[in-house]
This record gives sequence, structure tokens and C-alpha cells, in this order.
Amino acid sequence: MNKLQTQFDVSSLMVSDNTIQFDVHGFFDIKYAGNKTLKDKTINLKLEISSLYEKFWIIMDLDFDFKSECSRCLETSYINKQNSLKLDFYKNQENDYEIDFSSEKIDLSPVISEVILNEMKIQYICKSSCKGLCSDCGKNQNLIDCKHPKKNIKESPFSSLSELDL
Ligand SMILES: [Zn+2]
Ligand SMILES: [Zn+2]
Repeated sequence: MNKLQTQFDVSSLMVSDNTIQFDVHGFFDIKYAGNKTLKDKTINLKLEISSLYEKFWIIMDLDFDFKSECSRCLETSYINKQNSLKLDFYKNQENDYEIDFSSEKIDLSPVISEVILNEMKIQYICKSSCKGLCSDCGKNQNLIDCKHPKKNIKESPFSSLSELDL
């Protein structure tokens, strides 16, 4: 699969106020904690870039898939998200994304990354009732009950307290 296009020619906006549109598809590589975008799933990006007086406006619609590993049971889930983002930039000022609007091509990969990263959790849980792995045999407790005595789920900050049997 092609890589997602992230550089866009905005030279026509330099000449006069105008709106240009792009509709691009491809793979965009992001990994964060137990999350990862998928090599075989297209990310769809609809983009509108406008120049109006002293500002540039960017409207972005992003449709993307990624997989997340549950931090309790380690099962993989596939997640699809559609997010929209509207940004405006002063033409003569620097911006947090370090997009250089004085060049003919702008690179929007920092913005695309942010939209996707906002949906990726550092500790993804597949469902609130997820029972996690058995601390004795390592089996997924959502699938089988191995009959080992159950301790509290590992990542709870209070698990060491509850073992004291107060
Ligand atoms: Zn789980
Ligand atoms: Zn067990």
C-alpha cells in the first residue's frame, strides 16, 4: 500500500485567497504504547486548505483504523475512528506544528499524527469487565476459568493494599 500523502502544494493560495481540496488515501505509520496503525488498512484523509486575509484555515476529516492490545488480557482489538479537526494559522506567525506556510508545499504529518495519537490510549482495556490473565498460569480469564485463586488485577494501584486483608 502507498504511504499517505502528507505534503500538499499550497502555492495557489499564495497568489490569492482561495480554497483547495485534497482527498488522499494510504498507510500512515504510528506506534504508541500498545497501539499501532495497520499496514493493510487505508487511512482516508479529506482536506480543505483555505487562505483568507491574514490566516490559513485547515479542515481535516480523517478516517483511520488501528489495533490496541488490552493491558490486562493482551488480546488485540481493532478500532475504527472518524475524526474532524479545524485549525487556523496566522500567515506571518510560527505555529506549534512547525508548518512552514511560506514554502510552496506544507507538511501536515504533525497534525495527522496528533489526531491519531489522541485516540490511542496508554493503557487500553478491551472491556471494563475484562478479567485479565491468571497470575499463576497466565491464561486469559475471559476465555477460561482455570480455578486458580484469583488475586486482584495487576495494574490497580490498590492491589497491594487489598492483599493485606484489612
Ligand atoms: Zn482485556
Ligand atoms: Zn490459572
